[in-house]
Amino acid sequence: MTKLIVSKFGGTSMGDAECMLRSAEVSQRQGSGLIAVSATSGTTNELILLGKTAESKTWEETEKILSKIREKHVKIAQDLKLSAESSKKIETLFEEMNSLAKGIHYLRDCSVKAMDTLMSLGERMSSVLFTEAMSQVLKKHGSTKSAELFDVRQVLRTNDDFGKAKPNTAEVAALCQKYLGSVRDQKKVFVTQGYIGMTEDGFTTTLGRGGSDYSAAILAEGVAADVLEIWTDVAGIATTDPRICPQAKPISEISFKEASELATFGAKVLHPATLLPAIRKNIPVFVGSSFDSEAKGTWVRKDVDQHPLIRAMALRKNQVLVTLSTPEMLHAHGFLFQLFKVFNDHKVSIDAITTSEISVSVTLDDSTLLNKKLIADLSQFADVQVEEKLTLISLIGNNINHTAGLAKKIFDSISDINVRMICLGASKHNFCFLVAEDQATAAIQKLHKSFIE
Ligand code: ADP
Ligand code: ASP
Ligand code: MG
Repeated sequence: MTKLIVSKFGGTSMGDAECMLRSAEVSQRQGSGLIAVSATSGTTNELILLGKTAESKTWEETEKILSKIREKHVKIAQDLKLSAESSKKIETLFEEMNSLAKGIHYLRDCSVKAMDTLMSLGERMSSVLFTEAMSQVLKKHGSTKSAELFDVRQVLRTNDDFGKAKPNTAEVAALCQKYLGSVRDQKKVFVTQGYIGMTEDGFTTTLGRGGSDYSAAILAEGVAADVLEIWTDVAGIATTDPRICPQAKPISEISFKEASELATFGAKVLHPATLLPAIRKNIPVFVGSSFDSEAKGTWVRKDVDQHPLIRAMALRKNQVLVTLSTPEMLHAHGFLFQLFKVFNDHKVSIDAITTSEISVSVTLDDSTLLNKKLIADLSQFADVQVEEKLTLISLIGNNINHTAGLAKKIFDSISDINVRMICLGASKHNFCFLVAEDQATAAIQKLHKSFIE
C-alpha cells in the first residue's frame, strides 16, 4: 500500500506564486495526501497589526494595512492565473477581513477571540491559493489526482483557549475518520490550513504562533499517516540556528526526545508541541527545505543509530528569572505546592527551575509578566524578585547527566560569560543555563565551536 504522507509548508514556502508552485512540485513528487499550509510569509504579523490598528487608530490607517494584505494576495492570485471559482473564494475572504476590521474598529475592541478569527484569514487565504498551485502542478504531471481545498476547522476541534488553543485529539481522530476518510484512497490531494481550529461551539481558534507544524502533526495523528513532512526554508534541523551560527551543520537523524528538547528550548524550526502527536503514534518526521528539496534534510525518529553527547544547541530568548524566597521554607513542606498552584491557576508554564533551602528560581517567558495578578498572587507567599533580559541556552544530546567533565568543558568555553542559573540533572538529553540576553549569541557561537566544529 502507498504511504500516506501529511506535509506542512511554512510561510516562506508560501511566499509568492513561484514559491507556491515550487512547494506544489515537492508535494507532487513526494505524493502527499494531505497538505497543511501556513499563511504567506509575514501575513500573520500583518493581521495582528491590522487588529491592533483597527482597535486603536484611525480607519484610514486600518485601510492601509487592509490594502497591503489584499494586494499581496491579489498579486499571487494573478501570477497563478486563479480560476474564477478560487477568485470568488479569495474575494469572500477579503470581504470577511474588511468586515472584521470594521467591527473591531467600531467596537474599539480586539479581543483574543476576535484576533483568532482575524488571524485565521492568513491560512485560509494561502490555502485557496495553494490549492490552485497544486491543481496546476498535478495537471502538468498528468496526474489523475485532483487537489481539493479542505476547511481544517471541520476536524481540528480545540478547547476555547483563544490564541493558544489545545486540540482534542480523540475528537480530531473521530472527525478525521468522518471527513477525511477518503485521504487513504489517494485519489485526491487535500489542501488545508495549518495553525487554526474550531471550538465545539463553532468559534475559530489558533494554536499559538508557529502552530502550523503542530497542526500538521495533529492531522498526521488523526489520519494515522505513515510520515509527517515539515517543509521550511532550511534543509532540515541543524546543530544550531544557522542564522546565529553560519557554521551550523545539518543533522541527518535525531531522536524524538532530542528534537523535542530542541524545539521546546527555542529552535524555531519546529513548534514545541509538534512532536507530541508524532511520538504518540510513532510517526517519523522529515524536515526539509522546499527551496532545495534534493538536500538531505533531517529524519526525526524514535530510534536512531548515533547518540552523540552533544547533538545540537538552542537558545530561548525573552526569558525572565523569578526568584521566590521566604524563610518559612526552611524545614517546611507544602511551600512548593503553594507556589506551583499559583502558576497552575494562571496557566503559566515554567521552563527551568532551581531551588535552595529558602528560595526557588524559575525561568518564564517575559510575556508572562504582563499578567500583574501572577506576581501579586506569588507575593502572598514569598518575596518576589524579577530579573529581565535573559536568554536560556541549551545543549542537547545524550547521556548528559552521566558524563564526567562535560560541565567543565562547557564553562571553560564560555569562561568570560556570567552564567546566572544552571539546570542539570533532570534530563539526560539537556543541559541548560541562563545568560544575559546580549551575551547569548556569543555563548552559542563559542559552544558550537568547542563542541561541534
Ligand atoms: P516556517 O515558516 O517554515 O515554519 P520558521 O521560520 O518557523 O519556518 O522556522 C525555520 C527557521 O528556524 C530557520 O530559518 C532557522 O533560522 C530557524 N532555526 C532555529 N534553530 C534551528 C535549527 N537548529 N536548525 C534549523 N533551523 C533553525
Ligand atoms: N502563520 C502562523 C504564524 O505565523 C502559523 C505558522 O506559520 O506556523 O505564527
Ligand atoms: Mg515555523
